[in-house]
Amino acid sequence: MSSATAQPQLHVGVVGGGIGGLAAALCAAQAGWRATVWEQAHWLGEVGAGVQLGPNATRRLQAWGVLPHLVARASQPTDLLVRCATSARVLGRLPLGERAQRHHGAPYLTLHRADLHAALRQCAAHHGVVMHVGSEVTALDPVQATLQVGDSAHAAQALVLADGVWSRLHAAVMQAPPVSVTGHVAYRALPIQQRLPAALRSQVVQVWLAPHAHVVTYPVRGGDMLNLAVFIEGQAMVLAPHWQQPVDWPTLASRLPPCCAPLRALLEVAGEAGDGWRQWPMVQRPPLTHAGQMARARLALVGDTVHPMLPYMAQGAGMAIEDAHALGQVMASYEPVEQALGRYARQRWQRNARVQARAQRNARWFHARGAKAWLRNQAMAWLGTRVLDVPWLYRG
Ligand SMILES: Cc1cc2nc3c(=O)[nH]c(=O)nc-3n(C[C@H](O)[C@H](O)[C@H](O)COP(=O)(O)OP(=O)(O)OC[C@H]3O[C@@H](n4cnc5c(N)ncnc54)[C@H](O)[C@@H]3O)c2cc1C
Repeated sequence: MSSATAQPQLHVGVVGGGIGGLAAALCAAQAGWRATVWEQAHWLGEVGAGVQLGPNATRRLQAWGVLPHLVARASQPTDLLVRCATSARVLGRLPLGERAQRHHGAPYLTLHRADLHAALRQCAAHHGVVMHVGSEVTALDPVQATLQVGDSAHAAQALVLADGVWSRLHAAVMQAPPVSVTGHVAYRALPIQQRLPAALRSQVVQVWLAPHAHVVTYPVRGGDMLNLAVFIEGQAMVLAPHWQQPVDWPTLASRLPPCCAPLRALLEVAGEAGDGWRQWPMVQRPPLTHAGQMARARLALVGDTVHPMLPYMAQGAGMAIEDAHALGQVMASYEPVEQALGRYARQRWQRNARVQARAQRNARWFHARGAKAWLRNQAMAWLGTRVLDVPWLYRG
């Protein structure tokens, strides 16, 4: 990215130090801005679990110089296998590995999100981004580009709101309705592969489909750990705005659909081979309908704050990364700030809306039963990779 020179350095204030906020701060800094991040948590080591990054996301990480910091900690699975959860039959296969690089120009990676977070943090610090932890932003003014942290008011030329799916500021600033409860609950375990029986270890992405549920597994931490996520729909759960509600195996087992022996065996040992099971309810917003939802005056919105989605496209972080990249590009221009942020919003909203809609469609597709499931399975058998590959997304 070129830098805006021969002008006093502009300042951007970023609310939230998650993947979207750090990426936005890094891109702004690379565009020549001074960037400050305020993060409410007292430490900047993101908890959670794994994340898959498609070539659309890794291409941007490569452009920012972040990818080399990730490669040793990430995995590059050779394949994505879609299986029937009750029979273990392979329904479809998408080669990843070298094919992703060849077809889409960048790798398909799976990694622990703490590793992604650490790499972004390291690069952001290297580019002079200032990060304040334990600093909750309580108010902001999109017109004046000011924000409030405790007793202190801070002014900038632009603001980025990247405070995530549980945003308290989004509603106030954009008059947006609250996120909606989906009735889908995610359960995750992170077993150490060495502690699993050899037959249950895996270095590929596997998606096991069942009526009203599916299970996703893939390697992280250079293949040393297996990220395991079980998604079950039709459950009422009290909303708690974090990822870390423990759940015991008997409780999860009572909610599972019927599973074939290998999948059941993996789920049974996964908690003990790692740090137990966690659960969290999943929320979403309807797909975006216009650019005005992504920017207002001197404020740009990035990531889950503005387009939270079910993770059934594995693209929430990917879209936050794309948002940050687009933001960096408009910030490198000499346009007035409001005009630049408006251009950012116009560039981004339709693609985000498309991915949100596709994630909703995948929920119905993954969790189908009866005739619909049969049709889905036939489509995968007949059309193979053409059903599973998403060139418009990965090349975009
Ligand atoms: C089960 C599951 C699996 C997923 N798998 C994938 C995947 O494979 N691939 C993928 O691309 N995406 C995936 N996602 C989505 C991805 O995790 C999110 O889209 C991504 O983390 C969003 O990043 P963010 O920065 O927008 O929000 P967050 O990561 O939530 O960051 C927001 C930050 O803002 C801080 N904050 C909040 N309020 C304030 C405040 N007032 N002041 C200061 N700081 C504040 C928070 O503490 C937090 O650190 C998955 C999500 C789930 C739930």
